[in-house]
Amino acid sequence: MRALESILIDKGYVDPAALDEIIDTYQHDVGPRNGARVVARAWTDPAYLERLLADATAAIAELGYGGRQGEHMVVVENTDTTHHVVVCTLCSCYPWPVLGLPPAWYKSPAYRSRVVIDPRGVLAEFGTVLDPEVEVRVWDSTAELRYLVIPRRPAGTEDWTEEQLADLVTRNSMIGTEVLAPVAAPTVGIRDHADGGGGAS
Ligand code: FE
Repeated sequence: MRALESILIDKGYVDPAALDEIIDTYQHDVGPRNGARVVARAWTDPAYLERLLADATAAIAELGYGGRQGEHMVVVENTDTTHHVVVCTLCSCYPWPVLGLPPAWYKSPAYRSRVVIDPRGVLAEFGTVLDPEVEVRVWDSTAELRYLVIPRRPAGTEDWTEEQLADLVTRNSMIGTEVLAPVAAPTVGIRDHADGGGGAS
């Protein structure tokens, strides 16, 4: 915000930090919101998830997203036993219509080469430490195939609306470098459990 303000103050002076912030906003908020809506629909509508897994391009088009760089989509679903992560080892193929602009790290030679050789190590560097029993599958994007990961739905979101769920889904979780954290119980529910002796929360 301060960087954006300084643009207004300095009138016409383009602050590189502010530019970064704008690009960052597009990467994190504008682009990936489409993918987040796809994920939220898949979490709440089993029939939609089925269509998504069968023909992702068509199912994503149902929500109005598609076009350039999104013609040949494949959706892979994370489960208790399998974690998917996406890379483009050759360049930076990426599903623009659902995820927006690729982040800088996605295009870096380090990520592109290392995630294939040591996916668990790379994921750990992203703060994603997976259970040793979870199988990690790495998907290599091409111009013909672009992947979207359906992250696991966080615990504690059972009563959430599709819109609330979409707000929760991050870009990195749809690339597979992040696992969505469980959600804390809402404060309105605390009174109900205060003297119930359940102790589960
Ligand atoms: Fe590529």
